Amino acid sequence: MGEDLAKRAEELREKIDEYDYHYYVLNDPLVSDKEYDKLFQELEKIEEERPELRTPDSPTQRVGDDLTEEFPTVEHDEPMLSLQNSYNRGELEDFDRRAREGLDGEEPEYVVEYKIDGASISLRYENGKLTSAATRGDGKRGDDVLPNARVVRAVPLSFDAPKGYERVEIRGEIFMPIRAFEELNRERERAGEKPFANPRNAAAGTLKLHDPRIAAKRGLSIFVYQIVGAPAELGDHQAALRKLEAFRFKVTENYRLCNNVAEALEHVERLEARRDELDYEVDGAVIKINDYRMRAKLGAVSRSPRWAIAYKFEAKQATTTLERVTWQVGRTGAVTPVAELEPVRLAGSTVSRATLHNYDEITRKDVREGDRVTVEKGGDVIPKIVAPIERVRDGSEKEIRPPKSCPSCGDELTRQEDEVGLYCVNAECPAQKKARLRHFASRGAMDVEGLGEAVVETFVEAGLLSNFADVYDLRERAEEIEALEGFGEKSVRNLLDAIEESKRRPFERVLYALGVRFVGESAAQTLARTFGDVGALANATVDELQEAPDVGPRIATSVRTFFEDARNLALIERLKKAGLRFESEADKTPEPGENFFAGKKFVLTGSLERHSRTEAKKRIERLGGKVVSAVSGATDAVIAGADPGSKLDAAKKKNVAVVSEEEFYRKLKEADAE
Ligand code: NAD
Repeated sequence: MGEDLAKRAEELREKIDEYDYHYYVLNDPLVSDKEYDKLFQELEKIEEERPELRTPDSPTQRVGDDLTEEFPTVEHDEPMLSLQNSYNRGELEDFDRRAREGLDGEEPEYVVEYKIDGASISLRYENGKLTSAATRGDGKRGDDVLPNARVVRAVPLSFDAPKGYERVEIRGEIFMPIRAFEELNRERERAGEKPFANPRNAAAGTLKLHDPRIAAKRGLSIFVYQIVGAPAELGDHQAALRKLEAFRFKVTENYRLCNNVAEALEHVERLEARRDELDYEVDGAVIKINDYRMRAKLGAVSRSPRWAIAYKFEAKQATTTLERVTWQVGRTGAVTPVAELEPVRLAGSTVSRATLHNYDEITRKDVREGDRVTVEKGGDVIPKIVAPIERVRDGSEKEIRPPKSCPSCGDELTRQEDEVGLYCVNAECPAQKKARLRHFASRGAMDVEGLGEAVVETFVEAGLLSNFADVYDLRERAEEIEALEGFGEKSVRNLLDAIEESKRRPFERVLYALGVRFVGESAAQTLARTFGDVGALANATVDELQEAPDVGPRIATSVRTFFEDARNLALIERLKKAGLRFESEADKTPEPGENFFAGKKFVLTGSLERHSRTEAKKRIERLGGKVVSAVSGATDAVIAGADPGSKLDAAKKKNVAVVSEEEFYRKLKEADAE
């Protein structure tokens, strides 16, 4: 057992060293931070249990080293350290307890700020002039990347240094804003270069370029948070941040002085809730003791100070294996690749599929079956593949070829001019029929409860459904449905009731449900409002259609083509007879109080079973409500799904009404029917 642990510790050290080199020096990581952190914690735990296994050069005892030998080095006036990590409330409270013990019972105040996901930098100013810009290096000395730092516009080349500030190191984080990062990666992909895995690697990589003219084009920025060498009278961290502001440096945003750990936790939660509003990446919050005297008393361990701790937010990226690519036929006949992944936990759920958009994306990113890939989940979007990790290929990976025939009906696929996608043009293709029906019955469209993916599949196979209008003939075929496996009298009745109820959906949703190419929810809304009824819409010319707000030639042509097809007109006739609405009543935004949502502010928390957050938000907004991210006194209600987060606690504390997921759907239905 003892031997095993020693072996494992050795193995972990080797792996972490290798990962560190790729991350810090090459800026091209082999694994996700999450995977890395797991190994690091395992090593820390072994070393804690068996201190004799802790070697002086263990990665737990030193900061990750970015020195390259390609730049002159600068010695730091004070070491640049890493930070201890914490992942939950308990770990943060432990940190607070240890700090108070170390301070013999004194109660520290904390400053809580964002942990910017970039590269740390120490800017040395002598008599107010910028003389070097050092990376963290090995903690004692760093690479002097001054030429690249000088081209970052937010880095002052000089400042009015008062007495006592003749030699200081201003420390902070150089980062790449998300927009600049995306633009850079698009450019790299176009040029056949490998995209950066994330903005942090892009920022760190840019700092190590040998041509500052290239660095200058990459839109880097900086946030600063520390002055090394300031006179002791400065006193505390908050004063330092204010001083930096006065010196006209760009200081971390949204920081707050907190009286105790409970308040600090509250601010951490607030920062996490607002994370998606930022135009740069953060990977957590940093909680720092404010008072310099207390900091000095606590000191540091080899790798990190005892007076600060990082609180890591939920990771947005993970690495996993791309097992294979399947091809999915959509309702318009578009055949798109879907990445089938080895399941991996990511931001609170297990991810086993990711989108690859189209074949061009596969070739552009050079993704292969069997590749290790980085997957990313941001906000509400379906996970996407960022890039393959080419360095870990072993030769067994297989190139992905586009299919020649439709995986559903076998018809030959076509590549339409000026479009990147592959298409199946067979209108009778079963996969397309199913996809169209699924869309028709989906939440934002006719919202027929009980007519989900599996049921549509069964009904199409059984010949009960072939098109939208058949949905409203199902009532006459109740007996046939009951005879199917898995259906009883009650479930059939519920389904038929739900179908009946769907007839009340407004025209704009019926229009959206018809699945006219390029007509999404908002275009459907505009068209319904502008033309008022289906007759006027069907008769509108391409030019007339384009007079509607936000309707361009693409949508207009598609609508025209749709209504020129006699089969579509026949379907609409049948739907009209069935009692669906083809006239608009919604020509105004609901007035406050007109339905449950109108004029109110909501906060969403936890995961909703039937809606993504974006969908839920859209529906609330359509009904005249607003969705905000933080709970405040002005919030009308918090809508809580499964595993609600801290926002639920906040709601309770602030006496804000809590609406359960069930109740939310009920209110949506009521509001839609009004
Ligand atoms: P870190 O990046 O987790 O934390 C320390 C750094 O935070 C500081 O050096 C500083 O630059 C930065 N920081 C940002 N905002 C700050 C603020 N407001 N105040 C103070 N500091 C702030 O630590 P690290 O030692 O640089 O890196 C370790 C982490 O890097 C790991 O936890 C892992 O997530 C990642 N890593 C990943 C790999 C990989 O292969 N994927 C390899 C090595 C490290």
